[in-house]
Amino acid sequence: MSSTGSTGILVENWLKVYLLDMDDKELYRQILGIVSPWAVSRIDLNMENQEVNIFLEYPKITEGQCPECGTICKIHDRRDERIWRHLDTCQLKTFIHCRVPRIVCPRHKTRTMNVPWSSDMSRFTNQFERFALDLLRATKNRTETAELLRLSWDEVDGIMKRAVKRGFACRKEDPPTYVGIDEKSFLSGHRYASILTDSNGKRVLEAAENRDGNAVNALWNSLSGKQKDSIKAVSMDFWQAYITGAHTHVPKAAIVHDRFHIMKYMNDAVDAVRKAEHKKLLKNNDDSLTGRKYHFIKNKKDFTKEERADFRQLNLDQFAVGRARNRKELLQNLWNYTYEKPARDFFRKWYFSATHSRLSPIIKVAKMYKNHFENIISYLKHRITNSFAEGINSVIQLIKSTARGFRNFENYRTAILFFCGGLNVYPQESR
Ligand SMILES: [Zn+2]
Repeated sequence: MSSTGSTGILVENWLKVYLLDMDDKELYRQILGIVSPWAVSRIDLNMENQEVNIFLEYPKITEGQCPECGTICKIHDRRDERIWRHLDTCQLKTFIHCRVPRIVCPRHKTRTMNVPWSSDMSRFTNQFERFALDLLRATKNRTETAELLRLSWDEVDGIMKRAVKRGFACRKEDPPTYVGIDEKSFLSGHRYASILTDSNGKRVLEAAENRDGNAVNALWNSLSGKQKDSIKAVSMDFWQAYITGAHTHVPKAAIVHDRFHIMKYMNDAVDAVRKAEHKKLLKNNDDSLTGRKYHFIKNKKDFTKEERADFRQLNLDQFAVGRARNRKELLQNLWNYTYEKPARDFFRKWYFSATHSRLSPIIKVAKMYKNHFENIISYLKHRITNSFAEGINSVIQLIKSTARGFRNFENYRTAILFFCGGLNVYPQESR
């Protein structure tokens, strides 16, 4: 608020009188939810900085509560003044000041007492943090939240990190039945993260940097023994470190290779056949495959009318890529089976046809499927995929697109767990 102009001065004077009135200690006591013996001792208005400073005190009595056990103990001394930012009042930045007493507990020695307005050694009151967390959830953007709250980016980041830590500390065990392990790239695809998700609870349980054995161990070790025992199956790609990790940490759980990852190998094989054939045809001045890449990637049911007509007219069976594509389309039926026996018969026939296709990328993928087949057909029993983990990509993309997104893995982990961890991130009232 500027002091220039008569209106400015008037409002300023009015505020000074209003806020310095004795009753306003009571007003602020109520706004802050302070209960006896805590009390408001003084209110200072600083119009130049557009601030109001509220001084709280614990009266000069000799006893206070131990923050660990709640025992009433002798007060030893008072700490130096600490300052907490509170929600703005009258559009002024509002700060709480207090010298918090330290007690001496017979069991816990010298401890600083808990204060009712804040927890976790935060420099913000609980009400302020709650509001900041709501804003973060709404904007999904640390920069925007910082601007709205007149904070720095690092302060908002700190609030988010503390929220995740707090959420973890009070997370319920909720033993998961089905989990998934998936890899994600971050820092423009240069680095990898592995994430463990609860497929039923639709939450991210933990994230670890890289996708090696250490990362996998860190993920599994974040679960309790009871949680691991409850897991019936784990969905994943063919990545060896993920397979080994599941064998080691949850040996009783089935592995289900994710059907979408499985089909991706087949899509890539069809594309490899297309590329090689297209190159060969072009050498003979034949441009039959030019501009038709998506004919071989898209599912037939997703074709437009024109694409369908073009596809028919092309007579695909005369091309190697057409034959590769047929194998791919056929394989998709595997996941429609209900019973294992006919599914096994189907795969045997498909495998014969694929390995006799004379198309080396297809043969290679078919052999890989055969090696992993028990963990592919396990889908029929458990019917799980990594689709939840895939689905959070959009959230990650949104966070990534904001400035300073993921400078390091820790930022990435915090954001994923904050937005997708299903955690209760709000501060709890201290005793
Ligand atoms: Zn104690």
